[in-house]
Amino acid sequence: MHVIWFRQDLRITDNPALLAAAHSGDILPIYILDDVNASSYRMGGASRVWLHHALQSLDKDLSGNLRFFSGDPKEVILGLCEKYNVNGVHWNRCYEPWSISRDKEIKNLLRRISVSANSYNGRLLWEPWDVLKADKTPYKVFTPYFKKGCMNAAPPRKPIKQHGTFSFSKEDISSVSIDALKLLPDIAWHHSIVSCWDMSEQGALNTWYEFLENGIYDYKEGRNFPSKKCVSRLSPYLHFGQISPHQIWSEVSCRGDDDNIIHFLSEIGWREFSYSLLYHFPSLPSENLQTKFDRFPWRNDPKALKAWQSGQTGYPIVDAGMRELWQTGYMHNRVRMIAASFLVKNLLLDWRHGEAWFWDCLVDADLASNSASWQWVAGCGADAAPYFRVFNPITQGEKFDPTGEYTRHYVPELKGVPDKYLFKPWEAPDDELKKNAGIVIGQDYPRPIVDIKQSRLRALEAFKSL
Ligand SMILES: Cc1cc2nc3c(=O)[nH]c(=O)nc-3n(C[C@H](O)[C@H](O)[C@H](O)COP(=O)(O)OP(=O)(O)OC[C@H]3O[C@@H](n4cnc5c(N)ncnc54)[C@H](O)[C@@H]3O)c2cc1C
Repeated sequence: MHVIWFRQDLRITDNPALLAAAHSGDILPIYILDDVNASSYRMGGASRVWLHHALQSLDKDLSGNLRFFSGDPKEVILGLCEKYNVNGVHWNRCYEPWSISRDKEIKNLLRRISVSANSYNGRLLWEPWDVLKADKTPYKVFTPYFKKGCMNAAPPRKPIKQHGTFSFSKEDISSVSIDALKLLPDIAWHHSIVSCWDMSEQGALNTWYEFLENGIYDYKEGRNFPSKKCVSRLSPYLHFGQISPHQIWSEVSCRGDDDNIIHFLSEIGWREFSYSLLYHFPSLPSENLQTKFDRFPWRNDPKALKAWQSGQTGYPIVDAGMRELWQTGYMHNRVRMIAASFLVKNLLLDWRHGEAWFWDCLVDADLASNSASWQWVAGCGADAAPYFRVFNPITQGEKFDPTGEYTRHYVPELKGVPDKYLFKPWEAPDDELKKNAGIVIGQDYPRPIVDIKQSRLRALEAFKSL
């Protein structure tokens, strides 16, 4: 029999490893929860909730034949090979540094016992070693990476044809139940997240088709406005591999050179770029890519961090984003940038605090995209926003949530605040706020935890000190 080891490719369609295993004979589909090798990068809480539901749905799509394990995959896979007649093991490659070294070891161990070990690309349009500069070094800047490197490399493959029916192994395999993986939290904080999403492969396809029909043709402009339905919300599905980038690319890259489509494809390119950075600079999740930032005078302020995490900074657009994150496991990209900039620049707190909180709360938490994006916002990344560009949460709110729909939804205590004051409610006369909105600043909604102008200057001073 052939083992198909599902990892971050929880789908039936366009799955090269699954197809190869199915072509080879009877298959044994397995999933192993590996907190051992992931160690400090073990999945965060929201991701685990997503994983639970995604696995449940994949198991259904495999007619209940998915077997679950927990522990070190080395031991699990070699144990299966010892007990049963395993001819081959198949998986799609992952690119986290810890996965790469684990998989290399497993490949060697399997070859030593004459079991064929086969890995495939099911996750990226271009694998990190496919796109290098002429001198064979990795790109550090997105535009040449994408426009020159990717566009001159071999085009992404077309999605592969699905295998008709699968022949499952009849062996009685001892494994554990999905509940034994304990992916769901003991204290229920996750119900609102679950109610926002259909966490299945079909959910990924429905989300994709809905976006193609209604969102993509206003993507370039519309993607900046969190209350508009102009972004795809595909990130968790892409992270867990419930849809492949190849399915996305092949569907839209032939739709001509509409600006919206070109822009959307370039965002898919940012995902590829993040993976390339993670592969070539494996310390990306923990260390500043620009080492001069190692001397940056970050502050230590647990109270401010807590206020940011809980959406109580007194800056409505920041608080709306942080509460969207908590309630849905997702945050709109524009607001991610505003909230992240606020943490590292206005609060002067180390980007790694933000990265860790997002890691725990996002359903799309992804080691490559999360760490590359945080380094981008903090200014210490490869192709980073210049440090002196500090997002102003007041003007950003006014510009990108002009009707206040998004902010009022997530910060309902500000529902009655007039547009003029929505993003700076502390400036409204007290009696007007009391009369129109029924709130008192400092009581029903916090006063700003920092002054925006002073904190900006403080950040610029700190940057100059480098
Ligand atoms: C501080 C910060 C942290 C982030 N952490 C993550 C993370 O953990 N996981 C994650 O997938 N994205 C992360 N992003 C990138 C981006 O915000 C999300 O990918 C995007 O908001 C997901 O929403 P969407 O699917 O509707 O995006 P769309 O705009 O519809 O884009 C389509 C796809 O392109 C990819 N993409 C878009 N923008 C980016 C980007 N800037 N970097 C990398 N890929 C991108 C995603 O896979 C996304 O699903 C982060 C951004 C910031 C500023």
